[in-house]
Amino acid sequence: MNTGSHGAGADRVDTLDIPTTRAWIDAVARAVTAHRDELTELDAAIGDADHGANLQRGFAAVETAIGGLGYAPETVGQLLGKVGMTLISKVGGASGPLYGSAFRALGRQLTTPEADGHQLTLALQAGLDAVRALGGATTGDKTMVDALAPAVAAFGEAITAGGDLGAAAHAAVDAAEAGARATTPLQARKGRASYLGERSIGHQDPGATSTALIFAALAEVLQPHG
Ligand code: ADP
Ligand code: MG
Repeated sequence: MNTGSHGAGADRVDTLDIPTTRAWIDAVARAVTAHRDELTELDAAIGDADHGANLQRGFAAVETAIGGLGYAPETVGQLLGKVGMTLISKVGGASGPLYGSAFRALGRQLTTPEADGHQLTLALQAGLDAVRALGGATTGDKTMVDALAPAVAAFGEAITAGGDLGAAAHAAVDAAEAGARATTPLQARKGRASYLGERSIGHQDPGATSTALIFAALAEVLQPHG
């Protein structure tokens, strides 16, 4: 599906085009459905047991919004901006505005039909900045930022080192999963889980877990093929 492969080798994927961006969002929708119960259980432990349902509802609405025959975005950013708007309007929980703002920030950065590694790195940094600005969380507060921040850093480092988008996405997945696991011993300082105080210790953060799923979906669609 990705027609952007070029450069050093036929098995490199160096650009993210609109069809592959759609495939990413489709893969996220599948992943949040497949992991809905796991996300719900994590949120039951330190929140209100709706994170799985929130994301499933949100991405189902996204699939409807971008799946219509008449919807033909001209840039990667238009598509991701619509994803963000839909999440903001359809998800009531904290994660809807947070992820929605992140996708909208990606959308504002990616103003061309294909995005390269440098553009994507800047866009992901803008997404992280948007989450931080809206939620006020920093690394160590036991939120999605604990997965997102290291994932964005790892993505950018892989691109700087000459890796293709697939390599960068894989590095981001590893960093996001490690960041999510590292939330377990932390006490929550932001969001609903912070109301539990010390009782939030010993549970993995649901939003950090779903952030890792979103990067895993990106890595899945950036596999070389052909
Ligand atoms: P709610 O907490 O409103 O029920 P969700 O259950 O969908 O919303 O999402 C909870 C997740 O949102 C948390 O696990 C955490 O990762 C993330 N989150 C909550 N508040 C913040 C915040 N201020 N900054 C960053 N992430 C946050
Ligand atoms: Mg919740």
